[in-house]
Amino acid sequence: MPAPDAKTLSSKQNPAPLLDGMTAREFFEQGTGYTYDDFILLPGHIDFAADEVSLETQISRRIKLKTPLVSSPMDTVTEGEMAISMALQGGMGIIHYNNAIEEQRDEVLKVKRFKNGFITNPLTLSPTHTIRDIDNVKSLLNFSGVPITETGKMGSKLLGIVTNRDIDFVQDRDLPLSEVMTRELVVAREGCTLEEANQILRESKKGKLPIVNANYEIVALISRNDLKKNRDYPLASKDAVDKRLLAGAAIGTREEDKERLAALVEAGLDLVVLDSSQGDSFYQLRMIEFIKNNYEHLEVIGGNIVTVNQARNLIQAGVDGLRIGMGVGSICTTQEVMACGRPQATAVYKTAQYAQEFGVPIIADGGISTIGHIIKALSLGASTVMMGSMLAGTEEAPGEYFYQDGTRLKKYRGMGSLEAMKKGSAKRYFSEGDKIRVAQGVAGAVVDKGSIHRFLPYLVQGVKHGLQDLGNRSVKDLHTALYNGTLGFELRTHAAQVEGGVHNLHSYEKTFM
Ligand code: GDP
Ligand code: 5GP
Repeated sequence: MPAPDAKTLSSKQNPAPLLDGMTAREFFEQGTGYTYDDFILLPGHIDFAADEVSLETQISRRIKLKTPLVSSPMDTVTEGEMAISMALQGGMGIIHYNNAIEEQRDEVLKVKRFKNGFITNPLTLSPTHTIRDIDNVKSLLNFSGVPITETGKMGSKLLGIVTNRDIDFVQDRDLPLSEVMTRELVVAREGCTLEEANQILRESKKGKLPIVNANYEIVALISRNDLKKNRDYPLASKDAVDKRLLAGAAIGTREEDKERLAALVEAGLDLVVLDSSQGDSFYQLRMIEFIKNNYEHLEVIGGNIVTVNQARNLIQAGVDGLRIGMGVGSICTTQEVMACGRPQATAVYKTAQYAQEFGVPIIADGGISTIGHIIKALSLGASTVMMGSMLAGTEEAPGEYFYQDGTRLKKYRGMGSLEAMKKGSAKRYFSEGDKIRVAQGVAGAVVDKGSIHRFLPYLVQGVKHGLQDLGNRSVKDLHTALYNGTLGFELRTHAAQVEGGVHNLHSYEKTFM
């Protein structure tokens, strides 16, 4: 029998039905709660290169991102540095609030004030510090170019600069910096562009260029080596008006959080995440109403939720996006302790299917430990994916590396762990006034993943290949295939999961890059 003409079988308006496998609707209407590892996606037809895949998406009604990846508001994951790097790579970082209002505001300010190529908060020392102090900086932070100011702090008068060349042959490491620093400085004025700074550095042949304000107080520093690297970030997430990086932050839903929010908005916040482990509460509905009445321009993400009923309540209240996941985070014990939650694949599919009718994007939050999980979350209707443990081991996450049994690690802890609650995060878990605290998370460690600027492009490339295998050129196409029933799903038995992993080897090493 001759092969049927492909055109008669499918067209854009009338896509080819699945000849085997199940549609998402069939798969999830069976009534069982599934998670990412319980199912597999069936491959589609490839007629384009992986590089042609677009991962452009919405994190909220009005904010578009080029990379569908978001970092969690946790105190071992997202502060200013992580948020800057996530935004440069086209995603977004949500700054945690397990800190004082001013501290969180300063992290938001770091993001909004970031200028590519400018070190906006350089380490400074005073003339009375010694060469030994520079040696310590060098061994801890790996640079030795340090501006010297009157008080030793930023925002104080610039007196000189110490670089490697001032100190490399000096025997007495206890000499004060006042005796070795270079005092005749080439500086640039606040407000100069990167191109102008580049020109000054080229002409002066110096390695560092301090930027000063009208009072000769240092406000930033430029390093020649950074200019040489000339990094460009074509995907960067920026606001449409003044082209600054997008900043997101989390807050709670208590009265005092209104004061926090005011400070964050003042600093230029673009998107706020209402952070609660069970988001369908009258506290959260009241907060959404307050924000919508007072900060028209601010995007509000509600959550966390896992059911359609919860989604309906938050959408009715006016949220611009929903954060999905309850008890599925890698550090989380909610399902064990509270007997409440939902397996993540079902939660994402059900809420996304409902929310898309109202144009409300879904953030799949938690339980992501492989690139495959990211692809599955997007295939279930999520527009972005939020990660904690995947990113906590990168250089840009808060905290220092340490070694354990020869492995380089960073601390990672649940915001509902006793350790984090002691620092103040109890609000998220409704137990602030409780005499006995019930932990819903643990504290642990994750392995070193290097810089976000290497790790995120690696994740992005993997996701693009996944979409290519599925035969979809974009996140939008993927969602179309999900809802028109052309994306094929199949249950994986336990044996299928074993078969799909590495097996029957004596030993092997798993490296991720
Ligand atoms: P140095 O000449 O030893 O100071 O080092 P380089 O200029 O070659 O490299 C320093 C690197 O660290 C650059 O990529 C800087 O952007 C980065 N960096 C981050 N924070 C600071 C800081 O506070 N001071 C300096 N000097 N560099 C920093
Ligand atoms: P991961 O990416 O590590 O699997 O999960 C991160 C997510 O877990 C966070 O975005 C947050 O929603 C959730 N989470 C963070 N800390 C805790 C905790 O202590 N308990 C619970 N139940 N969830 C947490």
